[in-house]
Amino acid sequence: MADTETFAFQAEINQLLSLIINTFYSNKEIFLRELISNSSDALDKIRFDSLTDKSKLDAQPELFIHIIPDKATNTLTIVDSGIGMTKSDLVNNLGTIARSGTKEFMEAVTAGADVSMIGQFGVGFYSAYLVADKVVVTSKHNDDEQYVWESQAGGSFTITRDTSGENLGRGTKITLFLKEDQLEYLEERRLKDLIKKHSEFISYPISLWIEKTTEKEISDDEDEEDKKDEEGNVEDVDEEKEKEEKKKKKIKEVSHEWSLVNKQKPIWMRKPEEITKEEYGAFYKSLTNDWEEHLAVKHFSVEGQLEFKAVLFVPKRAPFDLFDTKKKQNNIKLYVRRVFIMDNCEELMPEYLSFVKGIVDSEDLPLNISREMLQQNKILKVIRKNLVKKCIELFFEIAENKEDYDKFYEAFSKNLKLGIHEDSQNKSKIAELLRYHSTKSGDEMTSLKDYVTRMKEGQSDIYYITGESKKAVENSPFLEKLKKKGYEVLYMIDAIDEYAVGQLKEFEGKKLVSATKEGLKIDETEDEKKKKEELKEKFEGLCKVIKDVLGDKVEKVVVSDRVVDSPCCLVTGEYGWSANMERIMKAQALRDSSMGGYMSSKKTMEINPENPIMEELRKRADADKNDKSVKDLVLLLFETAMLTSGFSLDDPNTFGSRIHRMLKLGLSIDEDSADADTDMPPLEDADDAEGSKMEEVD
Ligand code: ADP
Repeated sequence: MADTETFAFQAEINQLLSLIINTFYSNKEIFLRELISNSSDALDKIRFDSLTDKSKLDAQPELFIHIIPDKATNTLTIVDSGIGMTKSDLVNNLGTIARSGTKEFMEAVTAGADVSMIGQFGVGFYSAYLVADKVVVTSKHNDDEQYVWESQAGGSFTITRDTSGENLGRGTKITLFLKEDQLEYLEERRLKDLIKKHSEFISYPISLWIEKTTEKEISDDEDEEDKKDEEGNVEDVDEEKEKEEKKKKKIKEVSHEWSLVNKQKPIWMRKPEEITKEEYGAFYKSLTNDWEEHLAVKHFSVEGQLEFKAVLFVPKRAPFDLFDTKKKQNNIKLYVRRVFIMDNCEELMPEYLSFVKGIVDSEDLPLNISREMLQQNKILKVIRKNLVKKCIELFFEIAENKEDYDKFYEAFSKNLKLGIHEDSQNKSKIAELLRYHSTKSGDEMTSLKDYVTRMKEGQSDIYYITGESKKAVENSPFLEKLKKKGYEVLYMIDAIDEYAVGQLKEFEGKKLVSATKEGLKIDETEDEKKKKEELKEKFEGLCKVIKDVLGDKVEKVVVSDRVVDSPCCLVTGEYGWSANMERIMKAQALRDSSMGGYMSSKKTMEINPENPIMEELRKRADADKNDKSVKDLVLLLFETAMLTSGFSLDDPNTFGSRIHRMLKLGLSIDEDSADADTDMPPLEDADDAEGSKMEEVD
């Protein structure tokens, strides 16, 4: 007997196992789907390897999945002739190296998510413990001997070299010792239904080992013959014997045979009009491990110079790790003439569409194409172009139904915006899919197209404001004039909007103009223009004084066009960072301190000549350039404008002290008596006195 090594499960996996074993959960049947899906993946791998090296299949040329229920031992066994696992694969993959999804899955389940989601988190194997109290995995990889992994959970598993003499050739055999109350998974009917339901679209033959009982009339002689060469297939012979007469007798003959369960041809080879919504749903689920059906599907074929078929799905939600750059998304499966080539063919979809799932089956690519070859492949580039076009078409189809589109937009708007940033060819088309809240949209969101139809006569630009939230931008001083004039302003409150709008620049020939940056020109009447000129002149002196006080804090100080109520605001250069962008970059700089603040925005202070504070300031400054109160007020106005314009203050304490000084002034507390305040008895004493009083009352 070979040596048995014992390993402890990695801590998180151990927790996962307890969760799976102890959570009350009735929909246990999904374990079979998970194990079959693992087998299918393992078969994909060996098939792919064999494309470049045929000899990889030598040990076992057939590619199959076998399911074997055994009522005598209460075991259910799943065998595949996939790539198999070496000893170290068994140790690493089944117990000692936690997947990123392990913790996420546990959190999701604790938060009420469904256990059937397990496959999406990459820990599907452990669902075996939903129905089994012991699991034995025997595996043979081309590069290693055959090993046996065994565990009853409980913190550890063992690995033993397989000396039983049973030779898999290549592949993996998983034996589940079913819990007493899970014996339904030995029933042929149940298993057939399950495989049909969850694993219908697996592209390898799944065969179930079924029992066949036939009645046969035989003579005594034949009976003896049969008994000699039978292999346990003839049962109850003795009983039958007693009942029957000598000459002729009926016996029940029990035999076993393989029954192929998944007979459908691949769904993409069928005609779209003959496929039901349920069938697409089932295919989508089998493809993605999603527990919900898809939101939308597009099934098409391209013919001509180049031939391929594709089925593309948009999920209902974003996956938990949509923008996790470390994790490769599994999006498009590539087939060549029905043969699976690879998962997640990155060359087929740009990153921003990584949430679209599906398959592509090409007639033109060579079967033995390698990952390296894919990058330069021209056929692939054409396929990709077509897929992107079809995806965008599909999004427009979703947009025809408001409820669906709301769902879609909530989940994937960031991807669309990323698309505008990344895909210059399609950016104007994608821009039509954007939706924003605006000064006029109320609770709904508006498209740019609708915005354009509402533009006022003479309005040539599309106005927008960027910021942290709807609340933060709604009452921004930058919007005062625009609102007063009745111009609609879009609220762009996603960090990625800054990047997207920076790329988009215009929509249907209308320039996108930021309300917080220089270059905002609002149409004016002759009277307004004249008045402005006068005010400019009148306030020139003050602008200078302010610039002197603020020094490098601002680039320049000018009379404003855009503020109506507030005394002033701070705008940034048309092509520089907005306040919002500065906030975003600061947040990123925290992660990457090397970035420093070398690109922080250049600010222009715009003052509102019609605001009484400014008028008073002007008078004081005109009377005495060096008036100390002017300096103080200017600094306070600057700091307040920083906040209302969406910047953050580098030194909030100084700002605080300035406000406190103003408060005292307003409350007519002079500095001396304020100092005296600190001599008051500390607060705790007062509390104590209160407390003892309370005790007395009790
Ligand atoms: P996932 O399949 O999502 O990666 P699992 O927990 O289901 O996560 O499986 C863990 C790993 O164990 C797989 O990634 C694979 O490497 C290996 N594995 C599981 N089942 C098989 C199998 N039947 N044949 C070969 N390898 C397998």
